[in-house]
Amino acid sequence: MLRIAIQSKGRLNEESIGMLREIGILVDESKRKYLSKADNFPIEILYLRDDDIPGVVASGSADLGIVGLNEVEEKGFPVKIEERLGFGGCRISLAIPKAEAYEGPSWFEGKTIATSYPAILGRFLAEKGITARVVSITGSVEVTPAAGIADAIFDIVSSGSTLVANNLREVEKVFFSEAVLISNGSLSDEQESILEEIRFRLESARASRDKKYLLMNIPESSVEEAVRILPSLKSPTVLPLAEKGWCSLHSVVDTALLWEKVRALKKIGAEGILVLDVNKIIP
Ligand code: ATP
Ligand code: MG
Repeated sequence: MLRIAIQSKGRLNEESIGMLREIGILVDESKRKYLSKADNFPIEILYLRDDDIPGVVASGSADLGIVGLNEVEEKGFPVKIEERLGFGGCRISLAIPKAEAYEGPSWFEGKTIATSYPAILGRFLAEKGITARVVSITGSVEVTPAAGIADAIFDIVSSGSTLVANNLREVEKVFFSEAVLISNGSLSDEQESILEEIRFRLESARASRDKKYLLMNIPESSVEEAVRILPSLKSPTVLPLAEKGWCSLHSVVDTALLWEKVRALKKIGAEGILVLDVNKIIP
């Protein structure tokens, strides 16, 4: 049995549950409580505030956790980053009142900066050789300059609209974050093999996300050309059709190249092209 800590509510909650679902670990949300067991996989889900996840994993009260890299970095607990999960992307930036001129980090010398991330900020300031006063605040950091509590803020930014709404300007992007899967690095052999299964499933889910499955009818005379257009996992599958001179061709393509490939295939006579989502790719 493995115990995984995820955020109980907030920005990472839904996507964490979605990720577990995507790799076939079914979490019954109606049964959601502090601790619940997956129906079909040897895993227990522990619902916590995101701030508590790195510590709970480091202490061994949970074996794994899904949390923002920003929280891992800020808390500084010795946890192992197993996977980057590709959701919950954001950055932590320094922002100053819009009207201020800014020429570089020395602007912050002697200033007061409000943040929920004093450790990450402290490291940045030390690296730049800047002495500033850091005020730790757990929420609504963006209102502190207007309230006269701080000269500047160090806070999470994703679209930047909160900064604009508060007449602030992002001047230094200091830390880039996304959700990560963490472990405490001391799993039993049995737990290690469950984690290995999770890694394997994440990999196939990731591989499938950027792919589409293509099916089409194509004249036999164009098959060679089509194979050149469509490099596949191995090579495309070609099946004869009842109608003479025609075959059916199946292949997997990169989503980014889909329309380019479709255009090229139509040019050489492909018809009835079907494009399907790929659910998993298991090498
Ligand atoms: P909790 O109640 O669990 O402590 P919280 O209020 O601290 O929740 P959320 O706002 O739900 O945290 O954000 C959780 C994580 O989502 C952040 O730590 C960060 O990694 C990520 N995130 C992504 N985009 C944003 C954003 N625009 N603002 C805040 N967090 C973001
Ligand atoms: Mg929090």
